[in-house]
Amino acid sequence: MLDYAEPVTKLIDEFKRLPGIGHKSAQRLAFHLLKGSAEDSERLIAAIREVKEKIIFCSVCNNITDVDPCRFCTSPTRDRHTVVVVEEPQSVVTIEKTREYRGLYHVLHGCLSPIRGIGPDELRLKNLLERLRDGEIQEIILATNPTTEGEATANYIGRLLKPLGLKVTRIAMGLPVGSDLEYADEVTMHKAIANRHEM
Ligand SMILES: [Zn+2]
Repeated sequence: MLDYAEPVTKLIDEFKRLPGIGHKSAQRLAFHLLKGSAEDSERLIAAIREVKEKIIFCSVCNNITDVDPCRFCTSPTRDRHTVVVVEEPQSVVTIEKTREYRGLYHVLHGCLSPIRGIGPDELRLKNLLERLRDGEIQEIILATNPTTEGEATANYIGRLLKPLGLKVTRIAMGLPVGSDLEYADEVTMHKAIANRHEM
């Protein structure tokens, strides 16, 4: 079988490692870059390099940011009594799009998954407990994804936080089960938060 020149194969292999990219898509991307100008490729390389160099996790909420603490955590206009807990930074963007929520966030960077060997220690939970110490936070809204793993994660955190005496709520499941918050539209997301229930 005739193969592509090695550098092309290498690029295709790299694209295939990205989520949601199969062999055909990887090939299409590689050939798109091959046909494009050197400047186009340079821009892409620079964007990847910049994101890897400048983007860090906020030491307070774990959201992605270029300043630490992030702009949510230092904002004087956000409601500091409420924290929405999400699995991934993308969910923060989805919730922000509703323009209704004015509180703070906490990003876990994953969910509990025994199959993938992800236990509570692999989630960024420790600094959430630290944030609760001064008593300023009065409500935790669990907005993990409406999947089996997201539910298990919400239940785990609910059980962990309940004894601390603060209000712990779970977003309503108007969201399609098994889906990702990332794909929820603004109206669905707004309803999910508005109709949250106490755990
Ligand atoms: Zn932050």
